[in-house]
Amino acid sequence: MTVKIPAHYNGCETLMSSTWHILGAGSLGSLWACRLARAGKAVRLILRDAERLKAYEAVGGLTLIEKGRAQLHAIPAQTADDSTPIHRLLVACKAYDAEHAVARLAPRLAHGAELILLQNGLGSQDAVANQVPHARCIFASSTEGAFRQADWQVNFAGHGFNWLGDQANPLVPEWLDDLNDAAIPHQWTPDILTRLWRKLALNCAINPLTVLHDCRNGGLEEHHCEVATLCAELTELLQCCGQPEAANGLSEEVERVIKATAANYSSMYQDVHQGRRTEIHYLLGHACRVASRHSLELPHLERLYRRLLEHLSARGLPCD
Ligand code: NAP
Repeated sequence: MTVKIPAHYNGCETLMSSTWHILGAGSLGSLWACRLARAGKAVRLILRDAERLKAYEAVGGLTLIEKGRAQLHAIPAQTADDSTPIHRLLVACKAYDAEHAVARLAPRLAHGAELILLQNGLGSQDAVANQVPHARCIFASSTEGAFRQADWQVNFAGHGFNWLGDQANPLVPEWLDDLNDAAIPHQWTPDILTRLWRKLALNCAINPLTVLHDCRNGGLEEHHCEVATLCAELTELLQCCGQPEAANGLSEEVERVIKATAANYSSMYQDVHQGRRTEIHYLLGHACRVASRHSLELPHLERLYRRLLEHLSARGLPCD
C-alpha cells in the first residue's frame, strides 16, 4: 500500500538504494524526515498500519514547526506490507517497539542494507541486530529535542547533536553527506557505546527521581545525597562493564545537568504524567540487569528501580 509517489521517484534503482525509509513518523522520525525531504532527498515513511496510513493521507503530509514557522512536507508513506526493497532504514520508534517493528520489515531488507537506530537507552539495539543479522546496524545517540504537537505535526523544540557509530565496523557510511545537506548536526564516532552508556547513566541518576519526587529537574538539588549515592553506584557499574570513560566525572555532569535544566520536566516525568509508556526497561532496567549479570550489588539503584516499577504499576502503566 503506497501513497502519492511523485513521478521522479519511480523505477530508478539508484534512487531506490539511496532512499531513506523512516520507520515511525513520531517526534524524531518526523524531524529527520522533514529535514531530509527539504534537502531534496528521497524519503518514504513507514507507518504502523493501513488505518494510520489513511489518516496520514487525509492530511497530505508532515508539518515541521520550527521557530514558530510551519511547513508542510508531502512525503510519500507506506506500511510494512509494501513490497519495495529497503536499503537504508532509520528506525525512529520507541525502544520497546523497535525489535517487533524491524522483524516485520526484515524480508524487505536488501543485501547490504543499513539501519540507523535512534532509540534511547540500551538493549533494544542488540535485540534489533539479532533480527537482521545480515544488515549493518548503526547506533545513534541524539540530544535533539522534538515533540508531537498533534498527529503528523512535529515541533523542533531543542537544537542538539547526533552521534552515530558502529562498534563492529569503523567504515564511515557514504550517506553522512545527506545529513550535511539536510543540516542534521552529527558526528561519526567509534565510541558510540560510551556515548549511549553515558546518556543512560545521566538518565538513571535524574529521571526516575523526578518521577518519584514529583518535581522538575531542579527539584533534585534538594535531594543531593540521594543523587550522589546513585552516581557512585552508576560509576561502579560503568567501570565494571568496560565503560570507564563513560564513568569519568559522572557525578559532576549530573549536577551540571540538574542546574542547567532546572526548569524542565524530564522526559520520563512527562511520559508518566501523560499516562504514556516509559522506556524504563532500556534505561534503569538495563542498568540493573547488567549489574546483576556482573554479580554487582548496587542496592540504591535496585531500590530505585523497584520503587519506580511500583509507581508505574500503581498508575496502570507498563513496567517493561
Ligand atoms: P514518538 O514520538 O512516540 O514516535 C514513535 C513513532 O513510532 C510513533 O509515531 C509510532 O506510531 C511509531 N511506531 C511504533 N511502532 C511502529 C511500527 N511497528 N511501525 C511503524 N511505526 C511505528 O517517539 P520519539 O519521541 O520520536 O522517540 C523515538 C526514540 O527516540 C525513543 O527511543 C526516544 O527516547 C528517542 N529520542 C527522542 C527524542 C525526542 O526529542 N523526541 C530525543 C532523543 C531521543 P503511532 O504514531 O502510530 O503511535
